[in-house]
Amino acid sequence: MNTQWEVVIGLEIHAQLATKSKIFSGAATAYGAEPNTQACAVDLGFPGVLPVLNEDAVRKAVIFGMAIEADIAPYSIFARKNYFYPDLPKGYQISQFELPIVGNGHLNIEVEGETKRIGVTRAHLEEDAGKSLHENFHGSTGIDLNRAGTPLLEIVSEPDMRSAKEAVAYMRKIHDLVRYLKICDGNMQEGSFRCDANVSVRRKGQIEFGTRAEIKNINSFKFVEKAINHEVERQIEVIESGGKVVQETRLYDSDKDETRSMRSKEEANDYRYFPDPDLLPVFVSDELKAEIKASLPELPEAKKARFKTDYNLNDESATILTASRELADYFENVVKISGCESAICANWITGELSAALNRADLTITASPIEPTRLAGLVARIADDTISGKIAKQVFEFLWNSSESADEIIETQGLKQITDTGAIEAIIETILAANEKQVEQYRGGNEKMFGFFVGQVMKAMQGKGNPAEVNKILKEKLA
Ligand code: ADP
Ligand code: MG
Repeated sequence: MNTQWEVVIGLEIHAQLATKSKIFSGAATAYGAEPNTQACAVDLGFPGVLPVLNEDAVRKAVIFGMAIEADIAPYSIFARKNYFYPDLPKGYQISQFELPIVGNGHLNIEVEGETKRIGVTRAHLEEDAGKSLHENFHGSTGIDLNRAGTPLLEIVSEPDMRSAKEAVAYMRKIHDLVRYLKICDGNMQEGSFRCDANVSVRRKGQIEFGTRAEIKNINSFKFVEKAINHEVERQIEVIESGGKVVQETRLYDSDKDETRSMRSKEEANDYRYFPDPDLLPVFVSDELKAEIKASLPELPEAKKARFKTDYNLNDESATILTASRELADYFENVVKISGCESAICANWITGELSAALNRADLTITASPIEPTRLAGLVARIADDTISGKIAKQVFEFLWNSSESADEIIETQGLKQITDTGAIEAIIETILAANEKQVEQYRGGNEKMFGFFVGQVMKAMQGKGNPAEVNKILKEKLA
């Protein structure tokens, strides 16, 4: 990228709060139901109905606020944001404008080994709209209102990010955090976690920000990075060719890999925000805050730091193992149950197990190998019952059955052979059958040693204790 330019980015992230029912009605929020079977009269905005605030949505917003050390408003209110769209039958969205529930907070991101603090301006509660369906409706649009009224937490950042990479790191950080807190399932395909990216550029050294464009509704980390980079290039080109960037809303088209204008500021909506007269203000008491604070789980950064000191893990392993709470728990269970060194447990989880899960497109919670059974395998490697190589075979059996490592080692006859008598006997047969190679080795061709190891191991079906095999071979060949 052009080095005379500085990029400025602020993100607005929409996280669907994982409540059972909607933010202002009792209708279910479950994803994937038949269209229009989960929208009640309140979600549809029928005359005479009244919204009632879902306490769990408030709790989840406060949990998030506390996790980013934000100010929690003791008193906040809901506002009507007025606009017309077919997926919004009420003609307004209930949101928060003045007095949002979560105020100033912050979190740290890491990019290329450097830690940077990013400010969060606010996080407010609002309801989601319905969905327009363009497929299967030949020239028309279908409307599914199941999503109408689903609780959202809109998390608005300060314009603190200076590259697409930083924006992605921030988005990932929030994504990890909301899942750690179990306030959002983070499913981006289903739209539970999406973001708008505000992007501007300015010449290096310039103090005031440039005019920004807002790219709407990006639902993948890859697209955020691409969309921002494209937008940056477009803006630089506009300015360098003598034009001006106009404040507007743009859409990112992932098929064409470009952004295009949706509406400019002149056509921008005037939302006529005003306090919703149907809803009472929200009071968050000190008692509620204290109770929530006490129930907060260990957060990703703290867990990573603890894994490094308590388990002596390097930064990379600690990062991988704390990427989700479930994976971190899995690791701690394996260490505890096996009683083995944390390094070997970490290796098997970040190596063999993660690779197998990836291949099968499974997450750790759906792992066919439970912590107990992996611990059983690790313990048998640690006490030399099996070699690392045989362990991979045992792992395959663990993956495809419900037997324990001990049962598999027993029934498959995979126990390592350390009995020196047995190893000696096999070595003698091998040497006798390969006289020419023995001569070559004794004549100074040391590379021949590997050949003998291979032959012996083959004859022992990989079960010979490698250290013993090496030792006895050396003696016999001397
Ligand atoms: P709006 O209400 O129009 O969405 P806000 O002032 O709330 O505008 O800002 C929305 C987002 O845009 C915030 O995340 C903020 O950090 C970001 N932002 C504001 N100004 C700029 C700018 N010049 N360049 C990039 N991002 C910006
Ligand atoms: Mg906005």
